[in-house]
Amino acid sequence: MKKSLFGLLLLSLPAFALAAKLPVVASFSIVGDMAREIGGDRVDVVSLVGPDQDAHVFQPSPADVKKLSASRLFVTNGLGLEGWMGRLTKASSFRGVLVEAGKGIKTRMAPEEEGEAHGHDAVDPHAWHDPQRVQVYIRNITAGLIKADPQGKADYTRRAAEFAAKVKQQDDWAAKEFAAIPAAKRKMLTSHDAFGYLGERYGIKLLAIQGVSTEAEASAKGVAQLVRQVRQEKVSAVFMENMTDKRLLEQLTREAKVKIGGELYADALSKPSGPAGDYLKLFHYNVETILKSIR
Ligand SMILES: [Zn+2]
Repeated sequence: MKKSLFGLLLLSLPAFALAAKLPVVASFSIVGDMAREIGGDRVDVVSLVGPDQDAHVFQPSPADVKKLSASRLFVTNGLGLEGWMGRLTKASSFRGVLVEAGKGIKTRMAPEEEGEAHGHDAVDPHAWHDPQRVQVYIRNITAGLIKADPQGKADYTRRAAEFAAKVKQQDDWAAKEFAAIPAAKRKMLTSHDAFGYLGERYGIKLLAIQGVSTEAEASAKGVAQLVRQVRQEKVSAVFMENMTDKRLLEQLTREAKVKIGGELYADALSKPSGPAGDYLKLFHYNVETILKSIR
């Protein structure tokens, strides 16, 4: 009897420990990691769209609604990435602090996607691939954490400064490496147009099969045009992405007679054991993979 009581006590411990932490929900794994970096031990972060999953076409489940209802801070990217967010917040009884990590960044416009009836260019939501813009993400997430948990202000501020310094270090390194490569060689092709901000920051010309969202299908005509462009411009750096369909890219590389140079982590981290288990690793791995192909 004594033994089972002890077991019961042990079982109740983790729940107690978790309840003491600030419950945070992140829309997808990349901003989830940033919230974890800045929040440290004070927070318990759950990402709705997990590693290797596609945040564009995600469909929240009733379990996700429940997770959001129980949280006190919701960290999103904003900039139109989470098209499913309105439905989710409406369905949940979430009354906490909402953070749009990308709010206030200088946005990049992506050309209108084929087949879209909007008649205007779309904002490119993938700003996390530019470490300079990530400094804005860090400021926004930190402000949200402090608003939801004012007692943690000193901790959050200190951890944010440490994280910001690491992000800057990666940016300085990448800028130096890319600058050493002739501009004419700085070209790459990916499945969907997720690396525009990276390209803008380091002077890389980008081609992509799909637009800034993975929702729209690429047309046969579009692919044929790309094959010509890849040959003409002698693009040698072609990459798969961890969360999108690889078939189209494989067809294109066959037709254009180019080799796939590796896999980039576009809109999601890898699993923790993989090469892009957190934001800093994701950035470093992507840059190394690109450098290897264009050098
Ligand atoms: Zn994307």
